[in-house]
Amino acid sequence: MADRQERETSEFEALRSLSARVGADPLLVQAAGGNTSLKQDATLWIKASGTWLMNALRDEIFVPVRMAPLLQAVADIDSAAEKAEAFAIAELNPGGLRPSIETTVHALMPQRVVVHVHCVETISLAVQANAEAVIGERLRGLDWVFVPYCRPGLPLARAIAERRGTATDILVLGNHGLVVAAETVAEAETLLGRVCGLLARTPRKAPAADTDALLRLAAGSDFRLPAMPEAHAAATDLESCRMAAAGTLYPDHVIFLGEGSVIAAPGDTAATVAAKASAENRAVPVEILFPGKGVLVRRDANAGAEALARCLADVTARIDGQAGLRYLSAQDAHQLINWDAEKYRQELTRRMGAKLQ
Ligand SMILES: [Zn+2]
Repeated sequence: MADRQERETSEFEALRSLSARVGADPLLVQAAGGNTSLKQDATLWIKASGTWLMNALRDEIFVPVRMAPLLQAVADIDSAAEKAEAFAIAELNPGGLRPSIETTVHALMPQRVVVHVHCVETISLAVQANAEAVIGERLRGLDWVFVPYCRPGLPLARAIAERRGTATDILVLGNHGLVVAAETVAEAETLLGRVCGLLARTPRKAPAADTDALLRLAAGSDFRLPAMPEAHAAATDLESCRMAAAGTLYPDHVIFLGEGSVIAAPGDTAATVAAKASAENRAVPVEILFPGKGVLVRRDANAGAEALARCLADVTARIDGQAGLRYLSAQDAHQLINWDAEKYRQELTRRMGAKLQ
């Protein structure tokens, strides 16, 4: 018994350490995105909503959930499955953390360790209209399934349950990301590295940003340069800018940057773009793309918005310019923005941003 407990403790420590490493890599996880879990008997230890994998060694980010009733709710298509917090084990959760909005994805995989990332290599392929065929060639011989885009929560859980085979250990989620599962943390890390390697493409090299021009364009406005200079490539690479202009590619973009991307027209400054938005009763955008020059972000952009501004550049730089793309619909975006579980996660990011400033 003592042996077993020791093994489980060390496996948990290994999970924390893997989570922190994965969370610190902006090509795998941005902001509060992505999540990891470990099953111990009937309990699923899952990353809490709104917490950052990056902080897994510093903070308590895991929350214990009773698996059987949660899986029953998924099987019954019961909306209770949307609120995983109802299945959290209160006596082992002194901080009152809420389980991730993607808890059901982890519970549905039978393997003990599950790692879900918003890997930019995966997303850049998973937004292509031919995603399943192209990824199929790269992952030939592996037990994987493609799950077309569904809102996270019950719709995604149902889609996974319908497609997964009994030994499937890789899920590619359309317009969303990657899930790998294994019996140990070490095996999960190996599989993650292998799949990301097989899906990797060389990003197009973007021209440098024109920061002098951007600072002039920001004058007299509530906009500033982004924290991560990598974000500029979404606008300095005109191919990336064209892809961004056509709509929203993945859910966290909507959550942190709003629906689609705002591209400045010739002659626009940040102030004129903001004035136009206000005049039309639209929210002032969090990010503005100035084609060929770079991007500006709103002065109050939080750490989540900064991470997703960079993600847009990293994802679009990898997409084949010839590929047809599938964008999220207005209805997809509306469902995300108005989902209670997602509002909670955004609120935590706002609070965290306030603490950092
Ligand atoms: Zn996700």
